[in-house]
Amino acid sequence: MSYLNGTKQEVKTASLNGKNWVLNEQGMQLVEEDRDYEANARESEKKNIEDAVRSILSNVGEDIEREGLQRTPHRVAKMYDELLAGYEVDPVKLVNGALFDVDYDEMIVVKDIEYFSMCEHHMLPFYGRTHVAYIPSEKIIGLSKIPRIVEMFARRLQVQERLTRQIADLVEEILEPLGVAVVIEGAHMCSMMRGVKKEHPRMVTSAMLGSFKENAMTRNEFMQHLRQTNNSPF
Ligand SMILES: [Zn+2]
Repeated sequence: MSYLNGTKQEVKTASLNGKNWVLNEQGMQLVEEDRDYEANARESEKKNIEDAVRSILSNVGEDIEREGLQRTPHRVAKMYDELLAGYEVDPVKLVNGALFDVDYDEMIVVKDIEYFSMCEHHMLPFYGRTHVAYIPSEKIIGLSKIPRIVEMFARRLQVQERLTRQIADLVEEILEPLGVAVVIEGAHMCSMMRGVKKEHPRMVTSAMLGSFKENAMTRNEFMQHLRQTNNSPF
């Protein structure tokens, strides 16, 4: 896959004369027949990223041949593969088998979920903690799955507001609970590293659905849980 204008684009591939070809910025390239097709497309994407990094390096005035930079394009391409792996995660597979019927209708809070994301405006990291709460109607989800949902959405180019909303919406969709609340605290490197260096403000975003939206007492109970947290990373 490759990303253009923020959306996912299929890498163009074709079969011609019994051989597989991939069309990328270098033109048509022959794909070795015995290799996995998808793996090949991926490799071609990585190469494109490496070329782009090389271009950035030389255009900021660096000597791309000097020792410390020789493998930098390769490292960066590999790093993006990991930091932006969330595009490839299938949410259905992610929660598969981790839903349980239960007779419990009190608030479930999973707090202090550490996340690292990348702001889509500057491609710089933002990071912090996510707090998720829901009130089950019939189903609950395995404890480890909420942090994995957070990670799936965090490992994409994001804005914090959308990250917050996507987590809430997916939990709602999967569990159909009475209510969902998500609060995210974020420190943004793009504001910390640029401009006038004073305080480092952190941004707090929230999404409240169902009973958390409708009922102030429910909301307050959740906020009370968060206040008990005393291990903020900031
Ligand atoms: Zn930014």
